[in-house]
Amino acid sequence: MKKQFVLLLITSVLQAAHWGYDIDDGPDKWASLSPNYTLCKNGKHQSPINITRSRTMNTDNYLTLAYKTEKGVAKNITNNGHSVQINFQNGGEVSFKNIHYSLVQLHFHTPSEMQIEGKIFPMEMHIVHQNKKGDTLVIAALFEEGKENPSLQKIIDSMPTKTNQSKSFSTLDMNGILPEQSGYYAFDGSLTTPPCSENVQWVVFQNPTQASKRQIMAFQAILHHNARDVQPLDNRVIEIAPPQLK
Ligand SMILES: [Zn+2]
Repeated sequence: MKKQFVLLLITSVLQAAHWGYDIDDGPDKWASLSPNYTLCKNGKHQSPINITRSRTMNTDNYLTLAYKTEKGVAKNITNNGHSVQINFQNGGEVSFKNIHYSLVQLHFHTPSEMQIEGKIFPMEMHIVHQNKKGDTLVIAALFEEGKENPSLQKIIDSMPTKTNQSKSFSTLDMNGILPEQSGYYAFDGSLTTPPCSENVQWVVFQNPTQASKRQIMAFQAILHHNARDVQPLDNRVIEIAPPQLK
């Protein structure tokens, strides 16, 4: 056997099956690309969703953010072919309903995956956390076109344009990117990418963050269209919480 072929064989066994957002490898095809991706088609609590007020239930605010901002909290920034992602090594934690989750990574989608009353936003950021049991909590921040965001610009200045490229990245001012004084929606869901695993706790900020048109275009130029369509809500209830009292 040719060396190249053997190498290809080994990589395909070790790596998850290839998936993307095009006609032949996009969301409609994910379940057929690997036996590990069946939840993408058969799951009952899939994400993203269209958040509609008529399906919400009022709750108190159970979210506390404790992100670190000092040097060295971020490990690197990488273009993995699906998104631009910042990986963290000791980036702090969040607490939701008295469960602590550590910050793992954050990445972007253009346009938004979540919708609010059917409205699609130009961009969405997913902040991915994990607790000691391995359960996932994702915080989503939606972006609307407005004034330039200096903290987001730090990401734009460092993001690798080519697939499978990584660059060092050290600090990130998360508070500068997240919306101020915002309540949130919370619900059960899944990863929005293969393997579409469920039992993911979602928290979506009600208020969008502003970014300039030029900044949003910088992400679009690299991410193209990397958003899954909204999934049926079925019998799920969406909790709606007011802004945290300071
Ligand atoms: Zn995502």
